[in-house]
Amino acid sequence: MKNLLNHLVDLFFPRLCPVCGKALNVQERYVCDMCMADLPRTGFHEREFNAVEQLFAGKVRIENASGYFFYERGNNYASILHDIKYHNQPLLGEWLGRQFALETAGSRLWNGVDLIVPVPLHRNKLASRGYNQSEYIARGIASVLGCNIENVVSAVKEHETQTSKGTYERLMNTKGIFAVGRPERYSGRHVLIVDDVVTTGATLLSCAEALSAIPGVKMSIATLAVARLS
Ligand SMILES: [Zn+2]
Repeated sequence: MKNLLNHLVDLFFPRLCPVCGKALNVQERYVCDMCMADLPRTGFHEREFNAVEQLFAGKVRIENASGYFFYERGNNYASILHDIKYHNQPLLGEWLGRQFALETAGSRLWNGVDLIVPVPLHRNKLASRGYNQSEYIARGIASVLGCNIENVVSAVKEHETQTSKGTYERLMNTKGIFAVGRPERYSGRHVLIVDDVVTTGATLLSCAEALSAIPGVKMSIATLAVARLS
């Protein structure tokens, strides 16, 4: 009965794949099977010193870092991130976070992680968007890893949008925007920092620097997308 109802709902209110725009069938959740098969996966979870890990080399100690798929502006897959962030589709982020963790389960990326920390939004941005997309991605990952999510980091300073800035400007722009209250509470934990996309790594670096206040902390990084810089 429920299945029939789902069929009828799909018939009258088709849910569309955010990548190819085709109507999803009743078994498909958020992205159609074809587009999921063709997702431009990075495969970084298996590669030591991959392009994401290199962004932090010599700046802050990161155990493992990876992103699920490549992000390129103008590519159809870019609309996934757009929908998650700007079109009120946080559950798409949660679902993809879960797919990422399921597909890479047991890989070095998740090794030893015992706490998941989403990159926070400043409260003004949170108020206008209504949700933190990274928190939803973190929920999807947490559902596979079985770890808790805690908002250990807070965004103490608002920072401007990063898109039009150069690498150095981004770095300066993100300095000191995050803080950790009572860091000793998390002594010796291995924190997985989760964000939607990594571009230059400036935001994640700033977040990792704030988390370095925790005595004996270890840090790894997981993002849904990795921007190809050109
Ligand atoms: Zn599709």
